[in-house]
Amino acid sequence: MPGTLDIVPATLMLARGLARRCPVCGRGGLFRHWFTMAERCPHCGLRFERIEGHWVGALGMNTIVSFTILFVVVVTGLVLSHPTYRMAPLVLAAALTAIVVPLAFFPSSKTLWTAIDLIMRPLEPGEAQPPAQGP
Ligand SMILES: [Zn+2]
Repeated sequence: MPGTLDIVPATLMLARGLARRCPVCGRGGLFRHWFTMAERCPHCGLRFERIEGHWVGALGMNTIVSFTILFVVVVTGLVLSHPTYRMAPLVLAAALTAIVVPLAFFPSSKTLWTAIDLIMRPLEPGEAQPPAQGP
């Protein structure tokens, strides 16, 4: 029903978080710039930093994702270059991965972590407001 905050399934919250959307209301526009997230959702009012230290989880998740992708790139490069093991392209690919992936995943890591946090610690009454009714 529009105008209410129904219980959002965990998978939907995760998908919304991965898409850089608010896990509660599903709407976007949460980032002023790539690295600058609004303090609250402009649509439902959810305060993203729900507890002090909230973003440590996003940082950890970004680190884990980045290292996992870096590992896959290095292993794939080693397998593909076997038996010559040309190091220059492999080092270049690894360096680009190590730089680009954490920057590219940064906004999603924040919204995805907020979704995970909401799954672990469900929304308290008053933390978010129902979206405004349309005309
Ligand atoms: Zn919202």
